[in-house]
Amino acid sequence: MVEMQRVLQSNLSDVLLRINAACGRVGRERSEVRLIAVTKYADWEWVRILAGLHPVFGENRPQQLAERCQQLPAVEWHLIGHLQRNKVPLALRHAALIHSVDSLRLLQSIAAGAVPGRRPAVLLQVNVSREDSKTGFGADELPRVWDSVLEYAEQVEIRGLMTMAAESSDPEEARPVFAELRHLRNLLSQLPATRQRGIRLSELSMGMSGDFEQAVEEGATLLRIGSLLFHGLKADSG
Ligand SMILES: *Cc1c(COP(=O)(O)O)cnc(C)c1O
Repeated sequence: MVEMQRVLQSNLSDVLLRINAACGRVGRERSEVRLIAVTKYADWEWVRILAGLHPVFGENRPQQLAERCQQLPAVEWHLIGHLQRNKVPLALRHAALIHSVDSLRLLQSIAAGAVPGRRPAVLLQVNVSREDSKTGFGADELPRVWDSVLEYAEQVEIRGLMTMAAESSDPEEARPVFAELRHLRNLLSQLPATRQRGIRLSELSMGMSGDFEQAVEEGATLLRIGSLLFHGLKADSG
């Protein structure tokens, strides 16, 4: 337990130092970047200990998010994985931010499920790397369907964009993907006011364990980091 705490503290400090350094390299304010600790593969005991060290966690399955959120309500929980429409009520009840709105149909379900007066906060997931295995709006598609997105802007707070780069041993390969997401955000933010309906795309959720420094350098505001934080801990096989 003490050893676990020590490993988690040390991993977390390393990641935070690397975020600081990446901000420094490009002259960004550290306060613009938030770390989402991704706990999807973490043992419950690690999650509990980490909750004493860090305030924002991400899960990629709504069911596990709901269960863990009930155990640790003081943590801010984000949903980062694919959301099926029948799980929307669960996600709305427990997620402070849904990073993974990957279709207009899902956006519509979220709008329909929102409690009046409480707009759920979401990001639109963009499949910049154009991998078949990934869901999301196409980078060319999003500007084309933007007027349909706007139809939900009253019920849903659309805070920004999210993407995942392709897995690669060279993190520099992720950089153009992150830059493209930023360009897309800038393009949408420069539309005339009538085509923005008050939407402010201030968040860019991009960067994971293998490529978060490139993401910070390219403008990420939310980093989703899992495996690096739990490095050196052995999963409980029982
Ligand atoms: C698992 C996951 C992460 C974190 O990945 P690591 O490589 O473990 O840091 C980030 N984003 C999404 C959507 C994930 O599913």
